[in-house]
Amino acid sequence: MNNPSTSPTTAASTPSQSTDVVIVGAGIVGLAHAAHAVANGLTVTIIERDHHAAGASVRNFGHCCITAQSGELYELAQTSRKYWLEFAEQAGFWAAEAGAVVLARTDAEMAVLRELSSVREPGQVELLSPSGTRELLGAGSSAPSAESHDGGWPGLVGGAFLRDDLRVDPRTTVATLAEWLSQQSGVELHWNTAALGFSQSPDGVSVQTSRGELRAKQVFVCVGHDVDYLFPDLAAEHQIQRCALQMSLAAKPAGVEFAPAVLTATSMLRYPAFTDMPAAAALRAEVQENQPELLEIGANVMFTQRPDGTVILGDSHHYHLTADPFLDEAVTETLNTEIAARIGEPLEIVQRWQGIYASSEVAPILVRDVQPGVTVVSVTSGVGMTLSFGLAHRNVSRLS
Ligand SMILES: Cc1cc2nc3c(=O)[nH]c(=O)nc-3n(C[C@H](O)[C@H](O)[C@H](O)COP(=O)(O)OP(=O)(O)OC[C@H]3O[C@@H](n4cnc5c(N)ncnc54)[C@H](O)[C@@H]3O)c2cc1C
Repeated sequence: MNNPSTSPTTAASTPSQSTDVVIVGAGIVGLAHAAHAVANGLTVTIIERDHHAAGASVRNFGHCCITAQSGELYELAQTSRKYWLEFAEQAGFWAAEAGAVVLARTDAEMAVLRELSSVREPGQVELLSPSGTRELLGAGSSAPSAESHDGGWPGLVGGAFLRDDLRVDPRTTVATLAEWLSQQSGVELHWNTAALGFSQSPDGVSVQTSRGELRAKQVFVCVGHDVDYLFPDLAAEHQIQRCALQMSLAAKPAGVEFAPAVLTATSMLRYPAFTDMPAAAALRAEVQENQPELLEIGANVMFTQRPDGTVILGDSHHYHLTADPFLDEAVTETLNTEIAARIGEPLEIVQRWQGIYASSEVAPILVRDVQPGVTVVSVTSGVGMTLSFGLAHRNVSRLS
């Protein structure tokens, strides 16, 4: 089996060239910038400190949460959607126009969905009956079982289908995109190569790396939550924290197959399109009254099914400058019990992990020219998959 961490090609590769663009970080944000730069005919060098990308971009749900954004983020997300689909086609990774389903179990939850539906274009947020919700989740034709009483996905009063959301597979997307990029003319990708610092050079920017110097006209520093390692003052000014999330993977539950991402009440307390709705305040009060344990762990109870049938479960949110590595079993248990109740099936947990993303109270994205030709780009709000290609399109377009 090919273990990327011992691949001889990574160890032998020594950057030495000058290119139009250097990208630091081969997560989705860095690779999206590389993809747009290549599409614009620019030569690109990508450096990644690890032997393969293992950051936030491989630890998430693979949910491009387009519909639930608002304002500037909504515009970026819609642009991103277009390019997610285009680059999936070109690079050969899986991206499905599967949408998302929001489960509603109370009238307060349904009220938020109704309000959002009323302010969006027809069809974008489609209100669903309980049977319509179950049908979209692949349980429409199943007869009610004795266990679940109503044919799986129990206890629904309704739901909503978010038409524009996309699904990708976080475990394979970044690796496939990186491989495709490395095969494009004018692109070099160097694993196991860390950026250490940046200075001006006569023809642009000099990047000091753990394998020597690189030169470029423009550098995009896309290091996710690790901005503070390279630019501590900028990280402090933008109040970047590490948001640590507890996640699990369940084996494919027997007979359960659903394509959309599945969101619940706590999702409606986190994403801006929902929280902008007047009915969100009553929903928050209801969750606080009935399930305060979910708010205590900053839960966004949601789940997605990967192409192999396994189900990604999450998540909790805890904020630190440096995240402790220890997973709290009670937090995982709270999330997974809630999700099993939503699906109406027991879940066999096969993996647990911690994800970390950059978070800031100041603004949901950070794009800052820190010196001529060096731009730091970090999504500081937990929707970096959603925004990646849109943000990269905007940043790379500025170069021409
Ligand atoms: C559990 C979890 C669930 C999430 N769910 C979703 C979701 O459903 N939808 C969504 O839109 N977003 C989601 N997010 C957020 C999303 O995953 C992130 O916003 C996004 O992946 C950030 O991408 P990135 O490329 O900036 O960071 P990363 O993927 O972390 O990549 C940064 C890369 O930079 C490299 N690097 C760092 N320093 C250096 C250096 N000095 N030199 C070279 N390389 C360096 C790192 O090794 C890393 O590979 C989730 C995040 C988590 C953790």
